[in-house]
Amino acid sequence: MTIPDITIAVDGYSSTGKSTFAKMVAKEFGFLYLDSGAMYRGVTLFAMEGGMAPGGKIDEPALQKTLPQLDLHFERDDDKTLLFSGSRCIEKEIRTLEVSALVSPVSAIPFVRAWVDERLHAFSEGGRVIMDGRDIGTTVFPNAEVKIFMTAEPATRAQRRYDELVAKGDNPSLEDVMKNLQERDYIDSHRETSPLRQAEDAFVLDNTHMTLHEELVWMLGLFQGRFGLLETPGITW
Ligand code: C5P
Repeated sequence: MTIPDITIAVDGYSSTGKSTFAKMVAKEFGFLYLDSGAMYRGVTLFAMEGGMAPGGKIDEPALQKTLPQLDLHFERDDDKTLLFSGSRCIEKEIRTLEVSALVSPVSAIPFVRAWVDERLHAFSEGGRVIMDGRDIGTTVFPNAEVKIFMTAEPATRAQRRYDELVAKGDNPSLEDVMKNLQERDYIDSHRETSPLRQAEDAFVLDNTHMTLHEELVWMLGLFQGRFGLLETPGITW
């Protein structure tokens, strides 16, 4: 199946399975996957490790001054895309609940958003990209050919994120995980710069009761409706 070299924007609330979905689509249809949330998490880790978030309060002047020194980039490892700070892989460190607790306030800062946006555009220069986040279809790529807005019931989302953290060896409480999701959703959708909202031309995917396979079939239906591609040779499901 030939899908044109388009940009696909995937936005939605926290832990709706955006990255799992986007990675699957990238693999199946040959797209470059970029995780914009990882970049915000990388900036947050940088602030925390640099002593720029004492007691959870962000020292904005210090962050603004030192941010140009930060070298965040993605490296491919088989079918994984990992975030690096210089030569250090920080994929594990950016996924902790401590980083999750601070990432939404950090990503609400306009100069942080501008810094991340610039890099996301540079990383996407080759085209044929699927990127997930909160403002991809509204701000980063407002002309993306396909926009998807993902949602799922809060209890399902909290359980998924909890299972993910436990599988990585963390020991969070389900209550803390739920609280973090609610707080992030609130801050992300109420901030002034590029708040999380559904683009008018986005297709909504509520995956509360869907398997990954069903999500893939949904995506194929969307491609067919959009590009009229009715033949599917080479597709493995
Ligand atoms: O996608 P993920 O949960 O890893 O994103 C972490 C946080 O980064 C979000 O809660 C949000 O505050 C921020 N983010 C954002 N804009 C994006 C992607 C993520 O503000 N495009």
